[in-house]
Amino acid sequence: MKIRVGLGFDVHELKSGTPLHLGGILIPSDLGAVGHSDADVLIHALCDAILGAAGMRDIGHHFSNKDDRWRNADSKIFLREVMAMISSKGWKVENADCTLVLESPKINPHIDQMKAALAPILGISESDISIKATTNEGLGYVGRREGINATSVVLLSSK
Ligand code: MG
Repeated sequence: MKIRVGLGFDVHELKSGTPLHLGGILIPSDLGAVGHSDADVLIHALCDAILGAAGMRDIGHHFSNKDDRWRNADSKIFLREVMAMISSKGWKVENADCTLVLESPKINPHIDQMKAALAPILGISESDISIKATTNEGLGYVGRREGINATSVVLLSSK
């Protein structure tokens, strides 16, 4: 059995009057994330971690932000596509560990629902997904609530 680790990172701008999609669910928030798709920064980082582990480029390579098919797209579509791509190369996900960095809203009450949304797509149990959140201590673009970022690490094994 071969194993491969992958790292993903993503950033999105925050603005009022737009929804905040994180980890495949809608989070009540005064500010939402701006992007070509639904701007789910956690799923985008997860996709990049999976693609990175499989040596299959990155999310922007496969789902161009110039492509109208992906305008306002549910990012779970990207994750399903990424899973199909790596599965066709003989890989499966073992576990995923993700960190969101944002000042507010509090993410803790939503983590179980995010795991429930992501686990069936990743083909793993909710106990194999870790989602953590931290603030940026008021510093920089995250501290000013101008943006949000996410990092993800994923382990793949060959089937
Ligand atoms: Mg993104």
